[in-house]
Amino acid sequence: MNLHEYQAKELFRAAGMAVNPGEVARDPGAARSAAERYGGSAVVKAQVHSGGRGKAGGVKLANSPEEAADHARTILGMTIRGLTVREVLVSPIESIASEAYVGVLVDREGQCPVFMVSAEGGVDIEEVAATDPKAIHRLRVDPRYGLLPHQAYWLATRLYEDPALARQGARAIAQLYDAFVANGASMAEINPLVSTSGGRVKAIDAKVSIDDNELFRRPDMAALRDPASESEADRRAREAGLSFVKLDGDVGCCVNGAGLAMATMDLVKYYGGEPANFLDIGGSSNPDKVVAALEIITSDPGVAVILFNIFGGITRCDDVAKGIVEAVGRIGIGVPLVIRLTGTNEELARGILAEAGLAAVSSMDEVVEKAVRLAG
Ligand code: GDP
Ligand code: MN
Repeated sequence: MNLHEYQAKELFRAAGMAVNPGEVARDPGAARSAAERYGGSAVVKAQVHSGGRGKAGGVKLANSPEEAADHARTILGMTIRGLTVREVLVSPIESIASEAYVGVLVDREGQCPVFMVSAEGGVDIEEVAATDPKAIHRLRVDPRYGLLPHQAYWLATRLYEDPALARQGARAIAQLYDAFVANGASMAEINPLVSTSGGRVKAIDAKVSIDDNELFRRPDMAALRDPASESEADRRAREAGLSFVKLDGDVGCCVNGAGLAMATMDLVKYYGGEPANFLDIGGSSNPDKVVAALEIITSDPGVAVILFNIFGGITRCDDVAKGIVEAVGRIGIGVPLVIRLTGTNEELARGILAEAGLAAVSSMDEVVEKAVRLAG
């Protein structure tokens, strides 16, 4: 679950970090009065779950409260990477001497947190990784001991030659690690961590993702969810208990089990197609889930064909078949359905589908090849 910049900054502040202050505004008037409180000039920043807001025109400097209101008027309602801006963060303008990148995330291979830092901050870290990979320094943290002081200093000295700045940088890095661990984050990032012309190190941006598996024991984090920032499909999938990831292809996939869903996507690619989504309907036998899954898949106008790949174990094929028939009757599906069912109650399922004029095959290759052909 992604947090907004202002929410992430709150977590950093709680860890003691020096963070640029800010006020959230939902209309130009509120942006104007926030700028007044900061002495007239202010930076107005779009609050959406996306990086690159600056490049997209979602970060603007204002020299007067009136200008801050104008910027808020421009930015509110703007679309950045498909996300509509509903709030802006108004902060005092910092006079920046340097911009660095500091991030910590989970290194799945190393089974531990890993820091990445770069003196080339302010730009997308992916861009630095592509053009100047040596400019990124990595350090794995042993979670049993946490980030040790000398490690924080080593990282900070990759960013600053000046010992006074390095000391502050090391403090910020240690605080970032504390915030990452204390809140069950899967990623925490400051880009840029700036040094000001007055010689202070400060976070002027913040990005945090909380591990979804943490939310059940952290209602305070779960409460930070902004439903308005979620896509309709993501929200419905979450409410229906489906694992869903939207992709850019045209073959809608409805599969039981994450492993089979991945294998299905691989096979779609193998036959020259592009999956429109990852969707795992799970191991339950609940026709309502199938209906929800089909509603989500068909709401994507890019979908040209829907591919069912069901391996009946705990999942009963007849329940999935019932869900398919019910969904077809209820929502009317305007694209071809190709279905592969095998395993528990397969024969029953074929009967249910046949009554509704639908056919099913039992080979995975056959069904995927057909789906890719139908998608054109
Ligand atoms: P992002 O583009 O979504 O990563 O948004 P950021 O918060 O990182 O802002 C983008 C850029 O705007 C930063 O890299 C800075 O160069 C600039 N910026 C943001 N806040 C300030 C500020 O207070 N003062 C100055 N001079 N520049 C700022
Ligand atoms: Mn940034």
